Amino acid sequence: MNASLDSTIDWARVRADFPLLTRQVHGKPLIYFDSANTGQKPETVIAAVDDFYRHHNANVSRAVHALGTEATDAYEGARNKLAKFFNVRGDELVLCSGTTFALNLVAYSWALPRLQPGDAIVLTRMEHHANIVPWQLVAQRTGATIKVAELNERGELDLDRLYALLTPEVKLLSLTHVSNVLGTVNPVREICREARKRGIVTVVDGSQAAPHRVLDIAAVGCDFYAITGHKMSGPTGTGALWARREHLAAMPPFIGGGEMIKEVRFEGTVFNDPPHKFEAGTPNIAGFIGLGAAVDYLSSLGMHNVEAREQALLAHATEELSKVEGLRIFGNAREKAAVISFLVEGAHAHDLATLLDLEGVAIRSGHHCAHPLMQHFGVPATCRASLAFYNTHDEVEAFVAALRKVRKLLA
Ligand code: PMP
Repeated sequence: MNASLDSTIDWARVRADFPLLTRQVHGKPLIYFDSANTGQKPETVIAAVDDFYRHHNANVSRAVHALGTEATDAYEGARNKLAKFFNVRGDELVLCSGTTFALNLVAYSWALPRLQPGDAIVLTRMEHHANIVPWQLVAQRTGATIKVAELNERGELDLDRLYALLTPEVKLLSLTHVSNVLGTVNPVREICREARKRGIVTVVDGSQAAPHRVLDIAAVGCDFYAITGHKMSGPTGTGALWARREHLAAMPPFIGGGEMIKEVRFEGTVFNDPPHKFEAGTPNIAGFIGLGAAVDYLSSLGMHNVEAREQALLAHATEELSKVEGLRIFGNAREKAAVISFLVEGAHAHDLATLLDLEGVAIRSGHHCAHPLMQHFGVPATCRASLAFYNTHDEVEAFVAALRKVRKLLA
């Protein structure tokens, strides 16, 4: 199948922007199908980080010298690029180390001071541990309880059952936009609208949505939206929390230190304005400059093109995998991102992934930080192939051929 031109974009040239994808693993060309875990980085992102350390390295918001100004301008420039990319305001975007930090920030600064015994938090069965454990910690400390929205047989949220859970004691609903295991795309706009009608604050984990879809956070209608930079071709240790301004104004700081203050006296401290109030300490400056470059890169491709390309790869991979005897795919949501979890009869997920690695194919095996979802399916682990726009249709075929080969070895 020659489908390197899924749209007006020459995807072979796009792939060539990613130096790592030319390497070999165990003497075989690398097939990187683990982008839901972390995305590969284009040359421009690597160059932006390199350029910062080579030519501009200084701390932000402190020094008046030229380098300090350049570093601050580049860092704040990255915030503004990110804000524009997601159609939100820069002063509503708290830069942090990733989704895990962003969700903990909401848990500790918004939920912990507000929730009380008798209150409830609603989560869904498909959440990543990063969107479960912080709420459990809050629940333990406040006496709130956690309710769970379940899935239908396709691995989609059962919306009627979800809305039935949204009773008056529910103060907060936190859910993922896209499942990192099933690929299910949740109708977050509709869900947030229903929650809002009932006065429930909504948090959306956008880790797996931001890299793969046209994302207008303002249009989602949530209260908080978390993203992580390393999955969207940016460096690790970068991410952001978008929050409505009224929340940021009302929330106490999460972490205290430099950068987040206006004035410190031993009698008390005047905090900086949001978002800086939530950004104590020296940030990952080079990382955010790299993330700014990643946003430029994705914008130059166009997220609608990225999405269309990945949908074509998903359709191809699903079709080919469905032909493999004894292979079960977990989740066939009507709206689905390019993530395929599967098991093959008679083969353990880790054995399959280990043998595939020897063929040069990188997939993930395990619980994918989603134990409750594994419990739902009654399996300890699955294999997960997650694709990105820089993958190819030839790789899909080579992956399925490798899977057939290693499966024979395990039979
Ligand atoms: N939520 C989801 C849905 C994820 O896929 C991940 C990363 N696997 C996270 C949260 C956590 O992201 P990070 O570790 O980058 O903070």
